[in-house]
Amino acid sequence: MFTLPELPFAPESLEPHIDTTTMEIHHGKHHATYVKNLNDALPDKSEVDLANILQNNPEPKVRNNGGGHWNHSFFWPLLSPTSTSPSEALTTALNSSFDSLDTFKEKFTAAALGRFGSGWVWLVKDGAGLAIMDTPNQDNPLMVGKTAILGLDVWEHAYYLKYQNRRADYIAAFWNVVNWAKVSELLVS
Ligand code: MN
Repeated sequence: MFTLPELPFAPESLEPHIDTTTMEIHHGKHHATYVKNLNDALPDKSEVDLANILQNNPEPKVRNNGGGHWNHSFFWPLLSPTSTSPSEALTTALNSSFDSLDTFKEKFTAAALGRFGSGWVWLVKDGAGLAIMDTPNQDNPLMVGKTAILGLDVWEHAYYLKYQNRRADYIAAFWNVVNWAKVSELLVS
C-alpha cells in the first residue's frame, strides 16, 4: 500500500509564486486522493514498486492514480523556497542540448503552454543529451522508458486559484522556485 509523502517544504514557503491554499489542496487533497484511489485499485496490495507497476501496462484506474502518485511525489522535491543554481554538469548538458539555460526555459515553457488540457511537461535524459517531452493526464516518461530530471504539472488544479486561465504566468512563476540542486542530482543519478 502506498502513502502520501510529506511536502519537503512548508506550504506557504513558495509564496508569492505558488500560493499557500493551492499547495495545501494540491498536496493534501489531490495528491492524497491519487494515493487512496491507487491503493483501492491495486490488484496486488503487496506490490511496492510503483515504477514496475506503471511500466507493465496497468489498467486505467491504476495507470491514472499510480501516475498521479508518482508524478506528484517526483514534483514536490523539484520545488524549493531557497534559490539554487544548476550544477556545472547540468549547465553543460543544457547548453549542449538547448544552447543555453534561457533557450531551454523558452522551449520548456512553449511545451507547457502547448500541452492542451491536463498534463505534464518534462525534461528527460535522451541518449547522451537531454530532451523536452509532454504527456497527457497523469502519464509520465517512465511509461515510455524514459528518465525525467524535471517535471511541471500543468493541470489547472496546480495554478487556477491564483492564476485562473493564465497558465503562462504560472509557468513564469515556476522558474523562481525550481530546485536546480535536485535537478542536478537527478542528472547524475
Ligand atoms: Mn497536480
